[in-house]
Amino acid sequence: MPARNKQWLLASRPRRAAVESDFELVETDPPAPRDGQVLVKVRFLSLDPYMRGRMDDARSYAPSQELGQVMVGGTAGEVVESRHPAFQAGDAVVGMGGWQELFLSDGQGLRKVDAATLPLSAHLGPAGMPGVTAWYGLDRVGQPRAGETALVTAAAGAVGSVAGQLARLRGCRAVGVAGGPAKCAHVVGDLGFDACVDYRAPDFREALKAACPSGVDFVFENVGGPVLDAALARMNPFGRVALCGLVAGYQGGEIPIRGVRLLLVNRVRLQGFIVSDHLDLWPQAIRELAGLLASGKLRYRETVADGIESAPRAFVGMLRGENLGKQLVRVS
Ligand code: NDP
Repeated sequence: MPARNKQWLLASRPRRAAVESDFELVETDPPAPRDGQVLVKVRFLSLDPYMRGRMDDARSYAPSQELGQVMVGGTAGEVVESRHPAFQAGDAVVGMGGWQELFLSDGQGLRKVDAATLPLSAHLGPAGMPGVTAWYGLDRVGQPRAGETALVTAAAGAVGSVAGQLARLRGCRAVGVAGGPAKCAHVVGDLGFDACVDYRAPDFREALKAACPSGVDFVFENVGGPVLDAALARMNPFGRVALCGLVAGYQGGEIPIRGVRLLLVNRVRLQGFIVSDHLDLWPQAIRELAGLLASGKLRYRETVADGIESAPRAFVGMLRGENLGKQLVRVS
């Protein structure tokens, strides 16, 4: 166990783009569990786009991150000491431990996971929150049918990579949108999408049209802005949009939808969703996702930064698109 607990606090609210100096590293004494608590050693910290929203002091579906407090974050780790009847030392657990090496939990929101059949880190990726997000957007929001075209944006990322593969497993034509030729090659070559279009290329709109010769029936939207506008322009009548994220706007400024008329003329159903509203469905989703991973039908990548010290740099890089697949920090 570390002699000191390294923690990242939110030091300042970003003016636009988050920068590394918005965070402050501190060291404290390791906390000691009281009756009803467990002490968890963090092995992996998950870095997620939603954290950028929490850094702002703005109304949202969840409260803002308080200044001077440990940054919020999902973690996978190991119980090192337990004074809680439901946990034992050595249990592999997933929870919201935050950007730190050790944390105390009263068991609320702490979930035991099987780290023998799946690597521990996968419980923060395809068999964790991002995977469930993809599952929910497909299974409960868009419900694309065999033969339809499903367009997935931020397709090389943690959520998008799973969403596109689930769409293919439903018999859809899966088309990804990602930043740059290397990511697009990964999306098609490694993840098995039917096509992928680089939104940074000057011919993006024409390439999107060519990749979707029968139009688009379902959009799994992670990005917003010009990418969503281009997707709406290709929409078929009675198409669905699962509005999962708007990462193009997370660094400040509103991102309007230009093609509102297209929603009307194509009778499109656009539905936003937040995965944490549906905790009752997580066990089912995780069971299905874990099964697909075990059988090799679902593939995934991780980008792993080393050491808790690297968290701010990796976070800022992830928002710029430097990650392939799930962005993690290996803490210990
Ligand atoms: P990713 O692993 O996809 O990482 C973020 C990616 O966003 C980057 O790799 C980058 O990929 C892309 N990106 C960043 N800026 C832009 C931009 N200006 N235009 C287009 N793409 C950009 O993250 P996640 O998979 O964890 O999250 C994906 C989305 O899902 C996010 O919007 C997130 O907020 C949302 N989400 C929503 C949830 C919900 O409950 N609704 C739950 C979890 C996630 P590239 O190089 O391709 O640009």
